[in-house]
Amino acid sequence: MPEGPQMVFLKEQLSHFVGETVVEAKGREKGIPYDLVEGQALVDMKTFGKELLFCFPDFTIRIHLVLFGKYAIDSTLNRALQLGLVFENGEVNFYACKCRFIKEPLDKMYDWTIDVIDKSFNPQKALEKMVLKPRQLICEALLDQNILAGVGNKIKNEVLFRRQIHPESLVGEIPVEKLQTLIEECVKLSFEYLDWKREGTDNDHWEVYKKKECPRDRVPLLKEKIGKSARSCYFCDKCQKLYIPDNF
Ligand SMILES: [Zn+2]
Repeated sequence: MPEGPQMVFLKEQLSHFVGETVVEAKGREKGIPYDLVEGQALVDMKTFGKELLFCFPDFTIRIHLVLFGKYAIDSTLNRALQLGLVFENGEVNFYACKCRFIKEPLDKMYDWTIDVIDKSFNPQKALEKMVLKPRQLICEALLDQNILAGVGNKIKNEVLFRRQIHPESLVGEIPVEKLQTLIEECVKLSFEYLDWKREGTDNDHWEVYKKKECPRDRVPLLKEKIGKSARSCYFCDKCQKLYIPDNF
């Protein structure tokens, strides 16, 4: 699933469509009024967490690539088109994704201060929300899009490794200052990830995600599906400390 930085990178790849008019809107997404979209000028593009937003004067089209979503710029893929937007200077096509037509003002729908890559991101608010669920596993708290919008499985695994915290640690057992540095690391890594996307080197930088060996200890990494969401965790049980109660 694409994470926040990947969506910002996609937005940058589509920036030449801003200011252009939709010549044709097509696809099988039922909630989109295709006739209404055609003839409209794209005034802006934004992202919120893992969502991409096409902003028109009176409405927004939201794209969420979910688990297996794909897109093609100025080309097509051999699969069922979910939504395609054709402009005079090119086109973008989305597949296996969720699309939504939004009439409400975006500032009413979104709290931009929870998006880790947004300039208004508020780390204190993230911390306050996180500690409200002290029994939650840290690997699940990091993926909560209502706390840290945009953080996905790659960022989750990497920040836990960098800050040396075991994914099965309970939020309430981790010292608050460690939670703070973990949240700071989510922001830092998101911007690094965006830079790597721009350079085309993002796959060269992961230390634990889909890796076999701990770069600190040179011992095998563990790979386990942890928590209710059962997302894969890659971690080292030698250098990542498990924070749980003594009587656990
Ligand atoms: Zn290690």
